[in-house]
Amino acid sequence: MSPVRAPLLKVENLVKHFPVRGGILQREVGRVHAVDGVSFELAAGETLGVVGESGCGKSTTGRCILRLIEPTSGEVTFDGKCVTGASREQLRALAREMQIIFQDPYASLNPRMTVGAIIGEALTIHKLAPDRAAYEARIVELLETVGLSADHMRRYPHEFSGGQRQRIGIARALAVKPKLVICDEAVSALDVSIQAQVINLLEDLQAQFGLTYIFIAHDLSVVEHISDRVAVMYLGRIVEIAPSKALYTSPRHPYTEALLSAVPIPDPTIERKRIPLVGDVPSPINPPAGCHFHTRCPIAQKGLCDRERPALKTVGEGHAVACHLRS
Ligand code: SF4
Repeated sequence: MSPVRAPLLKVENLVKHFPVRGGILQREVGRVHAVDGVSFELAAGETLGVVGESGCGKSTTGRCILRLIEPTSGEVTFDGKCVTGASREQLRALAREMQIIFQDPYASLNPRMTVGAIIGEALTIHKLAPDRAAYEARIVELLETVGLSADHMRRYPHEFSGGQRQRIGIARALAVKPKLVICDEAVSALDVSIQAQVINLLEDLQAQFGLTYIFIAHDLSVVEHISDRVAVMYLGRIVEIAPSKALYTSPRHPYTEALLSAVPIPDPTIERKRIPLVGDVPSPINPPAGCHFHTRCPIAQKGLCDRERPALKTVGEGHAVACHLRS
């Protein structure tokens, strides 16, 4: 589903470079190009999957959108409001509308706080419960919404399984009734069967509350069913973005093809040719010139791919690819 109305979220040429310092004087000796000119739009109620190998900049993109990390440049607009230019106070108000769920629910839940206090913290900060009774009733409601129960309120995070802890993280994110939720590798640490349960829960919550998701994962198979569109990132750039079906059935970028060829197909009668990815992802410190993927690309053209950065160009309805040789 491509956005047809004014997008809820607009990301324009987002860049995040981290300085690398060295020597006695701790001078800048290089820059990690974590996010290198990322642009996309997201419609209300849509889910955009963002995938790529570790270090491709997908999590940094998510954090820059929320300004948990300050972007180096670029613009983020949410619901008509400029996030990148927002003051501290405006950001606090925006935090009610944009939430994040992290990969490691245990590390992101304070072990010394009860589950009720963890979920209720945002209610207190944003003054969303007029009194103690309303505060407790809302926590119970949130626990039940994510498939937990009222008696879990007085327990501590270590008493829960990984899947339950992720449900607590989801309840905490929902407490402020956000419009956008960034799921940052939210199911990556869970077993496959628990992953499916949490993804089903996220889908139910989306239908119930009209949520918009950015669903970040390193595995294409994880995002397939939840995403309306998928963006594939490589070394800080989006190399392909397309409606889910188009991306999975007719990928155009050699990197997407290689990633997809590694995804197991449940039907043993269908064979998929494996396209091996040679070598490791190059360092994001001073990454390769031209197309960042040229050092691993099986069809790279010398003199072109190693010199010129390919622009994202439209190759179909809502489908864009950054490759000199694919159109
Ligand atoms: Fe491969 Fe060149 Fe396309 Fe990059 S631009 S993906 S190196 S063919």
